[in-house]
Amino acid sequence: MQIKQKIPQVLDLEPYISERAKLWKSSQIRSFFPLEHTPGVVSLLAGKPNPATFPFEAITLSVKSPIPDQAVYDIRIDGQDLDRALQYGITGGLPDFVKWLEEFQSLVHGNDKATENWQVVVGNGSQDLLTKTFQILVNEGDAILVETPAFPCAEGYFNLLPTKEDAAILADHLRDVLEAWPQTHPGRKKPVVLYTVPIAGNPTGSTIDEQRKAEVLRLAKEHDFIILEDDAYAYLYYGDSPKPRSYFSMEAEINGEVGRVVRFDSFSKILSSGMRLGFLTAPKRICDLVVLNTANVNLQCSSTTQMLSLKLLSSWGHKGLVAHCDRVAAFYKAKRDMFEKAAQRHLKGVATWTTPVAGMFLYIELAPLSDGTKLDSYALITERAFKGGVLCVPGAAFMPRGMKSSFVRASFSLADEAVADEAFRRLRIVIDEARAESSL
Ligand code: PMP
Repeated sequence: MQIKQKIPQVLDLEPYISERAKLWKSSQIRSFFPLEHTPGVVSLLAGKPNPATFPFEAITLSVKSPIPDQAVYDIRIDGQDLDRALQYGITGGLPDFVKWLEEFQSLVHGNDKATENWQVVVGNGSQDLLTKTFQILVNEGDAILVETPAFPCAEGYFNLLPTKEDAAILADHLRDVLEAWPQTHPGRKKPVVLYTVPIAGNPTGSTIDEQRKAEVLRLAKEHDFIILEDDAYAYLYYGDSPKPRSYFSMEAEINGEVGRVVRFDSFSKILSSGMRLGFLTAPKRICDLVVLNTANVNLQCSSTTQMLSLKLLSSWGHKGLVAHCDRVAAFYKAKRDMFEKAAQRHLKGVATWTTPVAGMFLYIELAPLSDGTKLDSYALITERAFKGGVLCVPGAAFMPRGMKSSFVRASFSLADEAVADEAFRRLRIVIDEARAESSL
């Protein structure tokens, strides 16, 4: 994507920082870490263990090339790179890894780092960065906007924050919710952030188009909230129309300003979920606070997994990562097609769903009974389906405030055709039983 020509206004984020985060103090040791790289300085600073005592001689990775044919080749990590991989490092991420990711963000989203004041910080998965950002932007009692249903880890985190009951629904009527706020919530401050999963929402699998994103961006400026763009499934898009641009990419064009979008990317779905790597792309002030929090809480993300990824990605190049992601998306598209066919074979007449254009979930709604009564999927899934030999997630797991749901989330990431067929066959049996009993 091309870097935008017009230089946007950069939002001053100071008024948005929580009282809690303003009290955070920097780590006396870690804040000096970057100074060790000052030319001519001799450092006796950190309590870094001597790598000569570590029992590793080298790490050899056997990796696949994304272009052209997944040929396998070896990458060896030794010498100074091995020392760095096994050692404490800079809190926000290995500098050359962070630089690689910042260049990747510019390439993919067209955002210029120099004029738009954003940075990348690496974390232990995007979940680590999400929870830290919530702490930075949300005060006790603040209202927040979330989609309903919402990703349960985020929902779980909100439950930890003492926010009140104001999980609003991101639907076409988001504008109505915000405009009616003074009447519906007299005396309460408007929501401070919107948490959204724009591509392949978890659990719904739904993807927001650019028109709707533009509307949400305009609302963010008008009603003064920050957008937390959790794009964990960004590279699992396989729709027929071009992938919608990100909020991060569109902000300058739509609002003439930048700084209201905080973006979360995850390597979990494209490189490995076990390596626990995610990255935040956010205004400098927010990155600084995330780093400050990390330095005090968990020091940093693993240097080893950062180095493995850096070596892999440097050997691929930015375009290689894009090519790899395209391959991953095509894999999930084929899985979706296979899975949906199995669902059609077994669930016809008792369930419906919208075909997802991204991600790894089918969000299935149990059909209402003949008198219009909706089936609650909770007991059906947690008790009956488990006994019947099939596991899915009941929609209630994604609903705020214990709301009921007639939906079921089924993941097709691992299932092959035989598993999908058997799972839906079993699910059909328990749905039929539940329907028969509910109709008595
Ligand atoms: N956001 C969403 C929407 C997710 O579905 C997940 C994990 N399934 C995460 C964030 C967390 O990802 P990570 O492994 O990068 O922490």
